[in-house]
Amino acid sequence: MSKKIQAIRGMNDLLPEQSPLWQYVEGCVRELMQTYGYAEIRTPILEQTALFARSIGEVTDIVEKEMYTFDDRNGDSLTLRPEGTASCVRAAMENGLLHNQTQRLWYQGPMFRHERPQKGRYRQFHQVGVETYGLEGPDIDAEVILLTARLWRRLGLDDHVTLELNSLGSSDARAAYLDRLVAYFEQQQEVLDEDSQRRLYTNPMRILDSKNPDMEPMLADAPRLLDHLDTASREHFDTLTALLEHAGISYRINPRLVRGLDYYSRTVFEWTTEALGSQGTVCAGGRYDGLVEQLGGKPTPAVGFAMGMERLILLLETLDLIPDDARPGLDVYVAGQGDRSTEATLMLGEALRDALPGIQLQVHCGGGGFKSQIKKADRSGAELALLLGEDEIANGTVTVKFLRDDRDQMQLAQDNLAVQLPELLGRSF
Ligand code: ATP
Ligand code: MG
Repeated sequence: MSKKIQAIRGMNDLLPEQSPLWQYVEGCVRELMQTYGYAEIRTPILEQTALFARSIGEVTDIVEKEMYTFDDRNGDSLTLRPEGTASCVRAAMENGLLHNQTQRLWYQGPMFRHERPQKGRYRQFHQVGVETYGLEGPDIDAEVILLTARLWRRLGLDDHVTLELNSLGSSDARAAYLDRLVAYFEQQQEVLDEDSQRRLYTNPMRILDSKNPDMEPMLADAPRLLDHLDTASREHFDTLTALLEHAGISYRINPRLVRGLDYYSRTVFEWTTEALGSQGTVCAGGRYDGLVEQLGGKPTPAVGFAMGMERLILLLETLDLIPDDARPGLDVYVAGQGDRSTEATLMLGEALRDALPGIQLQVHCGGGGFKSQIKKADRSGAELALLLGEDEIANGTVTVKFLRDDRDQMQLAQDNLAVQLPELLGRSF
């Protein structure tokens, strides 16, 4: 027998028992975006490699070692998108969405990074993201943060996530600060680990992000960009924090928050949780005023974020915050036996779906006796089974069998089911 082919490491199947929870979160996200007037954008999963190399930055982890890049049949270098921002900017520019107008966009979909798979870190993962264009003030920074905060409340996560904030200033302020930072690190050569030595002259700010405990005291004393901001960035940051305070959103200023991608400026933020171990960032974003120009467009201020769906789902599971309607299961399973039961069960199913839109109802297919059908009904997770035997069909009735409660079965008129079912199921349609 030949060896079975398996999925690619770090790329997961989403199984039927998990999809209700995903659909629940996706539904909450869609509603949320509507309530803020954000429009969805969908871009291809493949882009030209140069798009990511030019936007994310040549010396970032993503571009250095995480991209899935290959030559297509024409010899063009293509890359499976590792994140959504670059594609979004490309699409917005290409389709004229940035011409004399502002945009508030959102996207969702799979992203691909060749990382070491572990809990909360996969090679194909899913992000929901927001990107806004043409708005330069701290008001829009506050809005995208308020939007995320509303999602945490909607999902019951607000007590379990913390907002971390920092400002990366203007590119000039950052350049001046980088000189200072490199000079400091040069004094500390003996404490720098191998990774940091490598980054010292390519991407020194990323050193601040290191999780190496041996470097912790040295990093704690490093000069802080927040202390050397240009005046305009300082004002921007102060207004943002005032707006957040006004809205009752608590935050923690983290001067060492730098983000892994090159294109950020001014505001950067992350929502983190303690509940997921070292994969604790559920949502990350900030302002990237230089990126559109860097990719060949007119200077366009921009701010956005991306959040990891898998981490969000893991968090809901870990904290046991899954509502009943986000669990797999049916309301009703319709079973039948005897002459004409196939027509009768199918038609009853159709009639109930007409009368109660939103009901989750399955009609038994494949024949067999009531006993085996009730077993299937039980396994389906349905609350109750409706049985149509010869007598019921003749009388226009149905036998209701409760599958979850210890309750006697009952006979009801088929005509009246649409009225009585919501009551029996304890929910409205
Ligand atoms: P990390 O520091 O965890 O590697 P990152 O800085 O690379 O994250 P971003 O590029 O900012 O992450 O992506 C935004 C969000 O997408 C992250 O906060 C996380 O929730 C999610 N994410 C990123 N990489 C992965 C991955 N490999 N698997 C699952 N989720 C991911
Ligand atoms: Mg990463």
